[in-house]
Amino acid sequence: MIGIDIGGTTIKIGFINHDGKILYKWEIPTNIGNQGDSIVDDIWASITDRLSKQKNESEIIGIGVGAPGFVNQQTGIVYEAVNIGWKNFNLRDELQRLSNLPVFIGNDANLAALAENWKGSGNQSKDVMLITLGTGVGSGIIANGDILNGTNGTAAEIGHIIADPNGYPCNCGRVGCLDTIASATGIVRQAMDKIAEHPNSALASHYQKHGKLEAKDVFNLAQDGDITSESVINRTTDILGFMIGSAATIINPSQIIIGGGVSKAGEPLLEKIKKSLRKYTLPRINDCCEVKLSQLGNDAGIIGAAYLVKSNLN
Ligand code: ZN
Repeated sequence: MIGIDIGGTTIKIGFINHDGKILYKWEIPTNIGNQGDSIVDDIWASITDRLSKQKNESEIIGIGVGAPGFVNQQTGIVYEAVNIGWKNFNLRDELQRLSNLPVFIGNDANLAALAENWKGSGNQSKDVMLITLGTGVGSGIIANGDILNGTNGTAAEIGHIIADPNGYPCNCGRVGCLDTIASATGIVRQAMDKIAEHPNSALASHYQKHGKLEAKDVFNLAQDGDITSESVINRTTDILGFMIGSAATIINPSQIIIGGGVSKAGEPLLEKIKKSLRKYTLPRINDCCEVKLSQLGNDAGIIGAAYLVKSNLN
């Protein structure tokens, strides 16, 4: 099977066997020029090139693709993928025409949830929530064994639940979505505000010294005891736990998996989210639910895309 994970800057492609093992994987840059017009051609050219060098092509039974945006899994249409410029784009038909293989499409965070549940932290549970804290906040929910897509591909968009109506503007056109607080971008933006308020903090001197700031710097400084950085992390994890706990009250999951670049902060991040979950969530919801870090990291997208092929063709 071929698994493809289309992101705003790179496209990950992998040959994956029936057991979910990656046989070979590579990346190509995402060309977002001309509303992402050349992306499908780029993908297929790269796969053709790779296949010509590979001996074992007989096992390719289909292609799965994860796209960042609102996706109709049935029709294969990407309604909207803001980061790469697609609008009502028929991704499935385009790729099927080039490859002559069955193609299956899903939302990238949904596929990551399927992957974690198949080969990662999820342990094949029936009710799972995956939250990815990256450039944005993504989420995929498996309820009663099925991925939640919703009426028009917008289910599980936890990143766009409003957490602070007086907060920062969001890419979606509204104000104060969880995305603007708990994404890597959101954490840095909060930290920049704090630097203005506390120009003598370790956070401020770090920024002055290096001329830039990343979410991981804020975590590291908080770990080192900087109160200003800690206040950013505490606010972020408090809001995260509040929102995740609210969503968990609807789904009643046995696993909540935290992934994405920000999750590299590891156990200290997890502990703070758990603390907030205990504060805001019904004990019955919380008691049966394990909160874990994702295991598959950047490979989740291509593994989940392969799972889509496997589950549709079996
Ligand atoms: Zn939003």
